[in-house]
Amino acid sequence: MSTAVLVRCDDCSYEETFGSLRAARTALDEHERGTAHTVDWYIGGLPPGVERAGDDAGVCGREGCANPDSPLLDREAARSTGRDSTGSSGPE
Ligand SMILES: [Zn+2]
Repeated sequence: MSTAVLVRCDDCSYEETFGSLRAARTALDEHERGTAHTVDWYIGGLPPGVERAGDDAGVCGREGCANPDSPLLDREAARSTGRDSTGSSGPE
């Protein structure tokens, strides 16, 4: 599955493209932890059905379109449970 995910920082020039949501999420998390910057991600090159799933999950960035039940939104959960362990699963 080829998923291009662009991770872009609002507060500095950091910008990188990843081949998976997992890699993008890890990099985003590490940049936010390390710099306290605000990082956004953008999913591109997906089939329409998956893009729609992205909209449902609120990853399109628009307010009010978030779906709290979506597995794509488990970033906070992963952070608090340490399931997505990157070796830095300490407290906030
Ligand atoms: Zn930054």
